[in-house]
Amino acid sequence: MTAHPLFDIGGRTALVTGSSRGIGLALARGLAEAGCTVVLNGRDGARLAEAAAGLPAGRVHTAVFDVTDGPSVAAGIADVEERVGPLDILVNNAGMQLRAPLLEFTDADWHRILDTNLTSAFLVGREAARRMTERGHGKIVNICSLQSEVVRPGIAPYAATKGALKLLTKGMCADWGPYGVQVNGLGPGYIETELTRPLVEDEEFTAWVRRRTPAGRWGRTEDLVGGVLFLASPAADFVSGQVLYVDGGMTSVL
Ligand code: NDP
Repeated sequence: MTAHPLFDIGGRTALVTGSSRGIGLALARGLAEAGCTVVLNGRDGARLAEAAAGLPAGRVHTAVFDVTDGPSVAAGIADVEERVGPLDILVNNAGMQLRAPLLEFTDADWHRILDTNLTSAFLVGREAARRMTERGHGKIVNICSLQSEVVRPGIAPYAATKGALKLLTKGMCADWGPYGVQVNGLGPGYIETELTRPLVEDEEFTAWVRRRTPAGRWGRTEDLVGGVLFLASPAADFVSGQVLYVDGGMTSVL
């Protein structure tokens, strides 16, 4: 049996920001396995080369740039399009977490988390969309979070960035939809990665995650691949401005 043609994204070119490890790397692998040419991004060239070596040969490229720096982003996207080809798919995934009570949160950390999780999606999205809107097609997926909807003590700045990213997604959909570009969000629940390692290692927290998640477990990076493949495919041509939560059901239950 073959897959339905609406889900065929073979031959497309995709950039996944923050794909040297974790969720970004799993999404890049999924896109490459679906037949896309994939561009990995991060700040460390050696780390990216190592990550690329584990993906299907011939369809993987790397692009070293800092997603928080406007001029680097502009140069990075221009270089990717020249070297690899026109971008069909952008996944804004790069992000970070800083856990601290708000009263102890510093100005510097506030700006750092805002730049990494929110400004980055604006900078990279704008550069990619300049080209996609001109060509009349493109798919952008912003990696939001279950914390786009809810917040726990100690992560207010993170939740603020992810809540704003959800509305930025809707704004991008409004501005770029008329030019053939669909923009959606994917909201992971608790997923085991480097970012969540302190929580995974905390037995009490892990027991809480299992209790609170109808699926009864931590998420795996592979759990997110299907959602992104769908949002990047022609099957989602009339889907825009939405956030698809992939969280084992956590955002739906008290
Ligand atoms: P990781 O910390 O494992 O990976 C983060 C990635 O982002 C790395 O590849 C890192 O690359 C890259 N990155 C960070 N800052 C920059 C920057 N300034 N420029 C370019 N690349 C950068 O995180 P996860 O894989 O867990 O998270 C990925 C995304 O998913 C984030 O947006 C996160 O908020 C979101 N998310 C994660 C959840 C989870 O439970 N893990 C839940 C909900 C959302 P390098 O350091 O090599 O530059």
